[in-house]
Amino acid sequence: VFELVCDRCGARHDASHYRLHCDRCGGLLDIEYDVAPTVEFRVLKDFGGLRRYAPMLPIGNAARLVSLGEGDTPVVSLPAVGAALGLGRLSAKLECCNPTGAFKDRGSAVEVTVLRELGIEAVADIAGGNTGVSLACYCARAGIRFIGFAYEDPRHPQLQAIAGTGAEMHRIEGNREACAAAIADFCRDTGVLNLRYSRNAYFIEGQKTFAYEILEQLDALPDHVVVPVGNGSLLLGSWRGFRELLQDGRAATMPRLHAAQSAAFQPLVAALHGTHWRAEPRADTLAVGLRASEPPRLDALVSACRESGGQAVAVSDNAVAHWQRRLAELEGLLVEPTAAAPLAAAEILARRGDIGSDEHVLVALTGSYKQPTSPRS
Ligand SMILES: [Zn+2]
Repeated sequence: VFELVCDRCGARHDASHYRLHCDRCGGLLDIEYDVAPTVEFRVLKDFGGLRRYAPMLPIGNAARLVSLGEGDTPVVSLPAVGAALGLGRLSAKLECCNPTGAFKDRGSAVEVTVLRELGIEAVADIAGGNTGVSLACYCARAGIRFIGFAYEDPRHPQLQAIAGTGAEMHRIEGNREACAAAIADFCRDTGVLNLRYSRNAYFIEGQKTFAYEILEQLDALPDHVVVPVGNGSLLLGSWRGFRELLQDGRAATMPRLHAAQSAAFQPLVAALHGTHWRAEPRADTLAVGLRASEPPRLDALVSACRESGGQAVAVSDNAVAHWQRRLAELEGLLVEPTAAAPLAAAEILARRGDIGSDEHVLVALTGSYKQPTSPRS
């Protein structure tokens, strides 16, 4: 029981088929639930993982969730890294413990469930990165054909993982834009759904369970939450989730939501400060999850930071590599470079005084070391 509402003009659309854009103005769509504001935030305690939040997700019946066991990721304290950062209370939510090794599984579970409920049998999208692996795995589970278009070296481990799910793979010469154009052509010719995961609202709805779990796991919400932001689905999901908890009276205050971006890709930092920024022609970063020069929901990302009182910070590859190494040495946690970016951002925020030394800071460790850094094609 939900509708798709345009984030630009407010036009409402029914959700009976897969829709990415507003018919009236072309804006992106958000999900709005048909519940009275006084309805209590409901949790189904009999289920584990995302299933227990089904009443707050666009999936209807909890039993129908396409699940690989995502969610319920641990929160652990990071006392030694906290001390190195000058922070008395630092903890991490281990999103790298999700089934495919990345936080993306929350979004994939909800999105692929919606695809199956809509009767969609095949989808095409760019194959690569943690999202590609995650979507391919959930499609395999749901019996949906995943057709991946890749512009990176096919020997790349993540592409091999995607192909390993039985996905049909197409190799494209050129860059991401060439890949998107090839997918559009393919989908027009074949009638296969062009998924464009980074634009749809379902993926973000799955990510908001990150916020719900934090409330259930901790006695009080942290003062600050720091997440890596490429296209920003985790930041947007956190913002939606924490806002719902506030509206339902289950939480008293919103944590400050901070974005960790890369020095090479900082569209949100620029937008938040009203400055001009463009990616260099051959821009790259060790933190591959931060390679996004035009996040489709940039305005909403700005709102998430601004309205929660958070900041966006650009971090260097050196700082990312440093904190990735220190996290392993001091706490025994092995993560991919992107996952260490929030620690590099927390260092800057603490130095500037945006984070107090006695405040509780929670970082998302978003991806495991099993998802390797990809070479730039
Ligand atoms: Zn519109």
